[in-house]
Amino acid sequence: MSMDHPDILPVTPEPVYCSNRSGRHSKVAGGPHSSSFASFDSWSTNVSRIRQSAAQYWPLDISRKIADNFESCHWAVPHSNPVPLVISLSDPVVASVELIDTGERFVDPGDTGDLVLVDRTRSVVSNPSRHFLKVRVGVAERLMFAAQRLSIQGLRLLVKEGYRPLSLQRSYFDRRLSALRMQYPSASDALLIELTSRYAAPPEVAAHPTGAAVDLTLATQEGVELNMGSVLNATDEESSGACYTACQLISRQAQANRQLLATAMIAAGFVNYPSEWWHWSYGDRYWAVISDEPCAIYGPVEEERL
Ligand SMILES: [Zn+2]
Repeated sequence: MSMDHPDILPVTPEPVYCSNRSGRHSKVAGGPHSSSFASFDSWSTNVSRIRQSAAQYWPLDISRKIADNFESCHWAVPHSNPVPLVISLSDPVVASVELIDTGERFVDPGDTGDLVLVDRTRSVVSNPSRHFLKVRVGVAERLMFAAQRLSIQGLRLLVKEGYRPLSLQRSYFDRRLSALRMQYPSASDALLIELTSRYAAPPEVAAHPTGAAVDLTLATQEGVELNMGSVLNATDEESSGACYTACQLISRQAQANRQLLATAMIAAGFVNYPSEWWHWSYGDRYWAVISDEPCAIYGPVEEERL
């Protein structure tokens, strides 16, 4: 299959900004203009590069507007009066979002037809739940929307992980926090939590336990995974910053593949967490903040209730 997509290259090196309709995005939490890393020399080489590449973010504020006009989705839309869109999951604004759960049931996206592939081998996930691929119905529908458009380009979505029990999410977060605390013993709790949140969501705002989030990649029609620039679920250190969705240090081919994924997912209404190219969500608190929605529509659900 040809992987040449001249119509979407090159990825612009210009920063991408989103509008600030509610004013909630004015707080920059650990973003490219933050001095959070200033005292950590060991981070400096990677972080200075990561900061530059992470300064480019998706045009997330247009996600719903383009749902009916897929072709108008552009990679980068510099906005007048720009405000950098860098909201960490640890930002209190995320936890403050109201939740009005729709009560939608969970489904396995692999059971919704041939459009969406699922990886049942747990090749890159350590989630032992038998529901580990499940998402809310509304999320599954949007995955099909994205997959339908990708199929025109001969591509498929490949879902690696969906639902994650809250207890597991808590252990991921605590483990990552402990590791960073050992690595940076003089760092403040606030900074350590912010760094932890770049890779493992705080349990109180995590999207996976709500059925709102999917970790996924692109594959050919035959199910062969595309080069996305880093291993799915790789940390900052493991990927030298290539886990950041807008990282410019990966190959042009991998950038183009990420662009294809982002275009389809944004058109379907998902938002991405900028430090994980594979993580997309719809309906959780982070989605509500980024999409300027009045409330989250999916809250955490205990595994026994699935
Ligand atoms: Zn995820």
